[in-house]
Amino acid sequence: MPSYDPNNIFAKILRGELPCYKVYEDDKALAFLDIMPRAPGHTLVLPKAPARNLIDCPAEDLAHIAKVAQKIAQAAMTTLGADGVTVQQFNESAGGQVVFHLHVHVIPRKAGVPMKPPAAEKEKPEALEAMARKLAAALT
Ligand code: AMP
Repeated sequence: MPSYDPNNIFAKILRGELPCYKVYEDDKALAFLDIMPRAPGHTLVLPKAPARNLIDCPAEDLAHIAKVAQKIAQAAMTTLGADGVTVQQFNESAGGQVVFHLHVHVIPRKAGVPMKPPAAEKEKPEALEAMARKLAAALT
């Protein structure tokens, strides 16, 4: 497997060099909205420490992002009124990974509503801002 590239787009977001629609942050993790959501509230959870994906991530960091993903899934059910939550995580190109800093997708679901295809449509900034505010408020 290739080594971690510190210039990947999520590394730049983690360093504050690029913006994001932040929903949660602690000392070890950051969560922000996917700008091409497969459903409203689609959130990405990342460890702050460099890790390319599940394969090279220390187990403690994996456990921590699982806890954060759970908090976001709970907020999706309560605050967003989701009927369910899809959690996805891709490893290497063959596994569907596009951005090579480990991230977990937390996707709120409504009964009977299919997910949009990956990277189908960029969401409007105002919709992302409103969603980030709502989720962040639920997670404080
Ligand atoms: P994957 O690596 O396949 O898990 O997918 C990467 C995800 O990152 C996709 O769902 C993209 O829509 C999302 N994405 C790409 N660039 C950004 C960005 N600047 N901010 C938020 N999400 C992004």
